Amino acid sequence: MLPYGRQEIGDEEIEAVCQVLRSDYLTTGPAVENFELALANYVESPFAISLSSGTAALHAAMAAIEIAEGDEVVVPAITFVATSNAVLYCGGSPVFCDVDPRTLLIDPADVERKISPRTRAIVAVDYAGQPCDYQRLRTIADKHQIALIADSCHSLGAKIGNVPASRFADMSCFSFHPVKPITTGEGGAVVTRNSDFDRRIRSFRNHGIDTEFRQRAIKGVHKYSMATLGFNYRMNDIQAAIGAVQLKKLSGWTEKRNTLVAEYNRQIVLQGLPVTPLETCDNTTSASHLYVVRCDSNQFGRDHLFNGLRQRGVGCNVHYLPVYLHSFYRKKQAYRNVKCANAEAAYEEILSLPLFAAMSNRDVEFVCENIAAILHASNGAKAAA
Ligand SMILES: *Cc1c(COP(=O)(O)O)cnc(C)c1O
Repeated sequence: MLPYGRQEIGDEEIEAVCQVLRSDYLTTGPAVENFELALANYVESPFAISLSSGTAALHAAMAAIEIAEGDEVVVPAITFVATSNAVLYCGGSPVFCDVDPRTLLIDPADVERKISPRTRAIVAVDYAGQPCDYQRLRTIADKHQIALIADSCHSLGAKIGNVPASRFADMSCFSFHPVKPITTGEGGAVVTRNSDFDRRIRSFRNHGIDTEFRQRAIKGVHKYSMATLGFNYRMNDIQAAIGAVQLKKLSGWTEKRNTLVAEYNRQIVLQGLPVTPLETCDNTTSASHLYVVRCDSNQFGRDHLFNGLRQRGVGCNVHYLPVYLHSFYRKKQAYRNVKCANAEAAYEEILSLPLFAAMSNRDVEFVCENIAAILHASNGAKAAA
């Protein structure tokens, strides 16, 4: 089976884990600090705070801007559920916004329409690894004096011009789940240029306590103070050691992913496949986390292709059902009548094809040949009927 995404772990990561296991600190130790410095350096941000997952990173970002009951946060309809769940964790209300049908990125024009006097923040999702239009989103956020948060779980390594895409929001949240651009098994991070947010998130991930165990051990003091209610959302040193090695390989992987995307685009034209890749924006480098095509729904159903590819050993996936259509949200009065037309139309047609750094151009060709064969067989069956 060719999976739709897969991590790459080498001997260097294994060696780094063994070193931590033989060391004094399994958590909140020097490997965590080392990974945070390397990440901050990579994305050219002064602060990077590691966390136990991308979900924890989003929760921490919402907590850092003090989202609470009565607050609204604008989120795109097409995203992983964690984006909007993070707003709910803090007692706030996610307000779903439609996406641009060409890119499936949050539509700034609809963001404007969804802003109310209660809106406190916009969460933009760099869907499939492509950075959002942060210039326009920043203008909107500044005009309404609200925060701009990036769910960058797909886009570590993405750039706008020559600048890391995560520099444009007030905080950017990353995930290090195995299918994401780099992995630590589970893990996440927030990066920011704001020292207040840095301090709040460091405390939030450690129960709301102002110092960490190792800091107290080094200083030889036992007292600590808990001033706010936090969580145990810490990344451990075993994870951080893997992350630091992965980060060194990221630039090469991003380049490789973009080469594979170009090969997909070429094969689709070459083989005349009735699928359309998402559009890419000028002046940006995508992290190419996902390769998403829209199926021409007049010719065949997306699920027909999904099932056919799976039967032929090609892992594919659908990212994502508009979040408000999940039963948890639909059950709530506030979300019963939400409708984002572009998101719902896209959902019927989108398919994520395999994309990961260890794939070859031949794998891409193989996926495309299988798409051609499935559609050829169903056209044949239609003609016979
Ligand atoms: C993966 C992902 C998350 C959650 O990250 P975890 O590390 O799995 O908690 C949040 N948002 C988006 C868009 C994601 O893809």
